This record gives sequence, C-alpha cells and structure tokens, in this order.
Amino acid sequence: MSEQPQQDAIQPAQPQQPQLSVETMMNRLGRCAAEQSGFINCPIYRGSTNLFDNFAASTMKGAEFRYGTFGNPTRANLEKAWTALTGGAGTLALSSGAQAVAYALMAVLNAGDNVLMTDTAYLPTRKFCDGFLSKKGISTVYYDPCITPEDLRELLRKYPNTTALFMESPGSQTFEVQDVPGLCAVAHEFNVATLIDNTWATPLFFDAHAKGCDISIEAGTKYLSGHSDLIMGLISANATWFPTIKETLMLFQSTPGDESCFLALRGLRTMYLRVREAERRGLEMARFMESRPEVLKVLHPAMSDCPGHEIWKRDFTGSTAVFSVILLPKYTLKDVEHMLDSYKIFQMGFSWGGFESLVMYYDCTSYRTATAFAPGGLLVRYQIGLENMEDLKDDLSQGFDHLRSE
Ligand SMILES: *Cc1c(COP(=O)(O)O)cnc(C)c1O
Repeated sequence: MSEQPQQDAIQPAQPQQPQLSVETMMNRLGRCAAEQSGFINCPIYRGSTNLFDNFAASTMKGAEFRYGTFGNPTRANLEKAWTALTGGAGTLALSSGAQAVAYALMAVLNAGDNVLMTDTAYLPTRKFCDGFLSKKGISTVYYDPCITPEDLRELLRKYPNTTALFMESPGSQTFEVQDVPGLCAVAHEFNVATLIDNTWATPLFFDAHAKGCDISIEAGTKYLSGHSDLIMGLISANATWFPTIKETLMLFQSTPGDESCFLALRGLRTMYLRVREAERRGLEMARFMESRPEVLKVLHPAMSDCPGHEIWKRDFTGSTAVFSVILLPKYTLKDVEHMLDSYKIFQMGFSWGGFESLVMYYDCTSYRTATAFAPGGLLVRYQIGLENMEDLKDDLSQGFDHLRSE
C-alpha cells in the first residue's frame, strides 16, 4: 500500500510576493537583468577586495559588500533566493552540506551544553559531534528518531543542559519520519533551539521553519544542484536565530566558491520540475520494489512500511527519489555483492539528487547507539535518476536474477 503523491501541494513558506506561485518565484528569484546589462543570469562575481567611492564610504560598516569573504552579488543572490523559498529570516551559503551542519551546531552550542541528536543522522554529522564537539566541552545524547513529544519532554528533564535538538527527517539511509512539529513545540517550551537537516525533502516538500524549526540545513549538493557537479551547503534560520548564525559565520569567514553559487542559482531554475519528477520516479520504483519477491520491505516515507509514514502524510507535500529496500533474510552480503556488481545502469556512489541512478549497500546496524536497527534483512539504498524507467526496471530485474542465482 502506498500513498499517491500530493499533486499541486507545493506551498512556499512565506513568499516575498505572496501572489506568485512557487514555480514563478524560483524562476525569478536571485537575478535582475537590469543590473546585469540585460542578461538573464547573474554573472559570477570573483573578487577579494571591494573598492569604496570615498573615505566616508570606506569607514561605513553597513555596506552590503565590503570584502570578498563577506559576500558578493552572486552569493547574495543565492542567499536571498533561498531565504524567500524557505521563509526564514536569512540564509548563509557554505562550501558543503557537512560544513553547514558543523557551523550551525557551533553557532548554537557553547561549552557545557548538550545537543540531542537523532540516532539516524547523516554519518558525518555524528562524527562531528563525537569527534569535535566532545573535545570542546559539548556533549551529545543520541535519541530514537521516532520519539514522541512526551518522550522528548522526559529527555529534556533528564539532560537539563540541553540547548539544541537536531533532527533529520526522514533519517539518513533508513528513512524514519520524525514528528517535527510536536518535537519543536516541546523543545521551545524548554528554550531549546531546533535544527533540522532537510536535505531529502528540500523546502519544496517540507516547510521546516513553518513546522517549528529555527534552523534548517540543506545540502545543496543534492537536489539544488541536480547535476552531480556541485558541493554546497545552505543554512536558513528564523528571526530568533539568524543574527547568531550570521555573527558566528562572519567570524569563521567561510566562503562558498563563486562558481558554486552560480551553479546553485542555475539549479534553482529547474529544481521544481526535477523534484516533482524525482517524486514520480521514486514512487514508481518503490512500488516496483515492493512487488518483487526478493524484497521484505521498502523504506520510503510514502510507503506504509516506513516508520513515520502517517507523519509524512500529515506534514510533507511530496517525496523525492532516494529510498532503501530490505531484502529477505535469506540473502547474504555475498548475494548483495553479486547483485550490485551485476548492475549495468545503477552505479555505486555516495551522493544523490543528480541525474544518474545510484545504489549503495549500508550496514545501518553498526553505528547506532540509541536504537537497534534490526529490519530483518540487509539494506540497499537506491537513488533514481532520469534514465528511461523501463531500462531501470530491467536493470533491477537482472540484478535480482543475480541475487537469486547465488
Ligand atoms: C549529502 C548530505 C549532507 C552533506 O552534504 P555535502 O555537501 O556532501 O557535504 C548532509 N546531510 C545529508 C542528509 C546529506 O544527504
């Protein structure tokens, strides 16, 4: 059983121009032909230094552009466009998604604080907490992504030095959908900042700030890029937290590449179409997988076997094309190796959100500490690209033949 995609449900959080639909906004944001000699796209500004018209201007602190590390028009256009799309108070673009996670955590947490981290966080997020924050006097307590708001209340009483709740919904690799509005409401009662890694859904399918998240992180590397040629991170924050994020980032002076900002703006123009198509393809392939006798379960938020599926229906306006399957318990790691090595179209690689179909085996039992992951079989994650769907199904079918022959 699976849910139909909810067509036409994309709602921009707080469009700057409420009369415009999200597709039109994404078409227009972050460019201004009149300032670009009539050309449609904002050029790539490259520059270290910024010249001031006169002495008075050189001593003014408020200028939008003062020095290369503080930004330039290409980067500012991207940040403003993303702010309009997410409905936050401001955005900072960074040179990778992992960096966006790290800087957001560093901006929010101080020595002696505790962060509650979902047990299904993207693995480098976990490594940052365990490998860096711990050395700086910040503790991390991992929690079950499926906790209820009441469970969170207990955790916050048990760990009173908690100042941040970090969510990732759906969870990396295993796709548990979290009760973000419920968890954020309780966190705010305790004055705890709420952060989310919203990379899978993008702002188009999950309106993180409207659902209670103070800070929303996107690996622009994935669906914003769409072409596997960009590494980029974005932090958007609401009015409560944007000043702190900005102040901290101005101290780090991290600068995303100018060409990367240009590519991210280009990705924005087609992102609506691409994520809608990703949704259609992801659902068709998830259903195909569900119909296969070799598959025990499909972990895709729009499918009823996925933990938190009901929450997905309530809170999300769509789904994308990355999901996992659990194979029947009789299949061994050697069988999985045969299947993955037999694919002609699906290739093995970590990232996703690009035009190419990918597959990866993950052992999700190895790193969790708050929960045991025991799905009853081995897990394989798929990213569905833009190849012909029948070619993809044929490739998956011949892969299953290799799985069974061993
Ligand atoms: C890829 C990814 C990141 C990190 O993005 P990079 O730009 O590759 O560093 C963070 N979170 C999630 C959920 C991701 O999938």
